[in-house]
Amino acid sequence: MDFAFSEEHLMVQKMVRDLAAREIAPHVKEHDREQRFDRSILPKLAAQGILGICIPVRYGGAGMDYISLGLACEELEYVDTSNRVILSVHVGLNSLALLQWGTEEQKQKYLVPQATGQKIATYGLTEPAAGSDAVGIQSTARREGDHYILNGEKMWISLADVADNFLVFAWTDLEKKRARDHSGLTAFIVERGYPGLETGTIHGKLGVRAGNTGWIAFKDVPVPAENVLGREGEGFHIAMSALDNGRYTVAWGATGLIRACLDASVRYAKERHTFGVEIGQHQLVQQMIALMQLKYDAARLLCMRAGWLKNQGVRNTRETGLAKWYATVSSFEAAADAVEIHGAYGYSDEYDVERFLRNSKGAVIYEGSREIQQLIQAQYALGYRKDKPLRCELPAYDPEAWTN
Ligand SMILES: Cc1cc2nc3c(=O)[nH]c(=O)nc-3n(C[C@H](O)[C@H](O)[C@H](O)COP(=O)(O)OP(=O)(O)OC[C@H]3O[C@@H](n4cnc5c(N)ncnc54)[C@H](O)[C@@H]3O)c2cc1C
Repeated sequence: MDFAFSEEHLMVQKMVRDLAAREIAPHVKEHDREQRFDRSILPKLAAQGILGICIPVRYGGAGMDYISLGLACEELEYVDTSNRVILSVHVGLNSLALLQWGTEEQKQKYLVPQATGQKIATYGLTEPAAGSDAVGIQSTARREGDHYILNGEKMWISLADVADNFLVFAWTDLEKKRARDHSGLTAFIVERGYPGLETGTIHGKLGVRAGNTGWIAFKDVPVPAENVLGREGEGFHIAMSALDNGRYTVAWGATGLIRACLDASVRYAKERHTFGVEIGQHQLVQQMIALMQLKYDAARLLCMRAGWLKNQGVRNTRETGLAKWYATVSSFEAAADAVEIHGAYGYSDEYDVERFLRNSKGAVIYEGSREIQQLIQAQYALGYRKDKPLRCELPAYDPEAWTN
């Protein structure tokens, strides 16, 4: 067993840390206040290979492993959640699904420009009336010749108003829809610009205000039959396997948020005095700081285990879910304590911790809420749930194949 990061990992960590400090940190408060997503970060992330970080070089990526993806997420979310969300949807939920399930033609057409950052991608599963209950979605796609005609609406989609490519899910079998049989769901690659596709932005969110979240509407959108990802009827498996990768990025991101809370709290605990001593001298303040350290280390170890399994091509639904649950709930608790340590000042936007608290709640809800994660873990423990092999698994990281 080896817990050490490689030189390559440390290089990625430093590169993303420097980029986030230089390019994101100076403007993030302003963008958060204005609820504005700043597109100019995308070419900067692309130039460093971050938008295709763990995609093989032959598909336009940087050819790094899944731990590198995690470290990049941690460093981005250390500064602000909105930038980690880019990696979650663009790489975790979309590009890795193409790598896992795509045909060679689909990889050339969609994965290559996404990995280089020429095209931005997202993932649309949630609808106005169905989030946790993915089988409750209402979107449909009916076959007409060499196209499917897509109708429906997606809601709460990260980068909805920014992305060029969308991975979306719809019922192709209406009888199975009525019966809630998930083998009637199909995954589609949809491009912005297809007639009948419209997107918009949601304003007034609690957090991730510097990020774009929105809706997508499909009104008789013609989608070429060759844009079915996987096979017709495999949509549910594709959606869930994509979540194994999305949740992984969310979990790593949450470790960055915990570390940001810890650093901010340690700094403030040495600046602020009460009763004649630094507040860091009070045991109850120390306890909050100690708990942040515990949560950071424990969350990161769970993330590293999930990444280690991914690198080996071993199914990691349970381990990734555990990491996502623990890390996100811990980041919310750490952020609440960071505000507490800052007292009234933590309650204003003078310090970053109020933004950390607002941002942290989203990750407890999206990509499988806390309750859904608990349900999944209980089902594994009780033996009600056992993973069956998928037709396509996420490929193991192979340094030779990834870099050639
Ligand atoms: C900022 C943000 C970004 C997002 N980005 C995306 C995206 O890019 N793509 C995408 O597809 N979706 C995205 N989502 C949607 C997100 O995944 C859903 O909000 C989430 O799955 C929860 O669904 P819901 O909001 O419909 O809540 P519901 O499913 O209606 O749940 C409501 C409450 O009931 C609980 N609950 C539901 N079922 C059960 C159960 N069986 N047992 C116990 N409790 C239960 C939930 O935990 C929750 O507390 C995003 C959401 C947010 C807030």
